[in-house]
Amino acid sequence: MSLLDTFQKKEKEEGQLPTTDFDDEKIPGLVDEIFAAAISIRASDVHFKPVDEKLKVYFRVDGALQTFQEFEKIYHHPIIARIKIISGLKIDERRLPQDGKSSFATEGKEVDLRVSVLPTSFGEKAVIRILEKNPEMINLRDLGMLPNILLRIEKHLKATYGMIMAVGPTGSGKSTSLFSMISTFDATKVNISTLEDPIEYKIPNVTQTQINTDIGFDFSDGLRTLVRQDPDIIMVGEIRDKKTASLAIESALTGHLVFSTLHTNTAVGSIQRLLNMEIDRFLISTAIKLIISQRLVRKVCSYCREPYAVPSKYHELLQRETGMDPAKAFFYRAKGCERCHNIGYHGRIGLFEVLEMSPVIEEMIVKGVTNQEIEAQAAKEGMILLKKDALYKAATGDITIEEAIKVMT
Ligand SMILES: [Zn+2]
Repeated sequence: MSLLDTFQKKEKEEGQLPTTDFDDEKIPGLVDEIFAAAISIRASDVHFKPVDEKLKVYFRVDGALQTFQEFEKIYHHPIIARIKIISGLKIDERRLPQDGKSSFATEGKEVDLRVSVLPTSFGEKAVIRILEKNPEMINLRDLGMLPNILLRIEKHLKATYGMIMAVGPTGSGKSTSLFSMISTFDATKVNISTLEDPIEYKIPNVTQTQINTDIGFDFSDGLRTLVRQDPDIIMVGEIRDKKTASLAIESALTGHLVFSTLHTNTAVGSIQRLLNMEIDRFLISTAIKLIISQRLVRKVCSYCREPYAVPSKYHELLQRETGMDPAKAFFYRAKGCERCHNIGYHGRIGLFEVLEMSPVIEEMIVKGVTNQEIEAQAAKEGMILLKKDALYKAATGDITIEEAIKVMT
């Protein structure tokens, strides 16, 4: 059964399946139905992609693309035209890319649509990002952190100065982690200010400022002003350059708790990134308290997952990397049911690697030892590497071994 079938099942049962004959007047309703389906399945993006004689519609769900529907060529222009109309784009401009905005409401849920239209060899392709107007904040305890990682983080949230960083590639859930941490504070008792690009979650009583590089207002400008606003806690959406990095470090050393993100792959690699930005070793070692490196992976649907025997090479991998007894592991594979729209996966979970600054590690940073040496010392002090967290979560049935392997390569 395809993803589309799971939506049409009810209509089929009631004998209301729409006719397949092309009807221009039905296009607006058809486009609405596609968006409503996308929202109900929690899709983050909808792709309308022309290929040969077809127009294919894909949804991105939990980070993975899923085929949704296929139309005959005759639908291509009318559907793209409808998308252009609702997002205020020029219908007759088919040679240049266009960007637009729209909004959509279904079953009490309101979303913003960011529309991008691109000319391709098969005609125009439209990709629509779906942004929830008021996304729900995830509790720190629900991100999927192992208990000892959570304890380490909660301990550092009690500090009054220093820097806590969430690092990882785009879409790894860094800002969700930062906001989950920030929302543990009572913003009526401490002054919390953020600089963001874009503002994703709105938190009561927190001063949130949108960065706007088009008019020359970047993170370092914002940060320079923020420190004059008597802050206790500062969040800098992302450290992209030396200016922002040194101001953030300076703020962390002068009595502020600073949260930020870096685009790096490992916790230890973040130290190297700051060094590359010409930040002083001693300042890095004293300002940074915690580096949380993370990824987001798909959770296997708990309603239809199937226990199975994984190939023995995964048992060996599990034992080698985690020391866990393979006989005690429970691996599951994705199957597909009505609840997960036959995808087999539902929702996502974080994988975490948390580097906690210690006197020994501080000294190693100042001395300038290799990343591997720091990583080995951190592991000795209890840091769980990302790949280990991935394998734990596969061996306990939260994720499939395939999802675990993806973050290890
Ligand atoms: Zn399922």
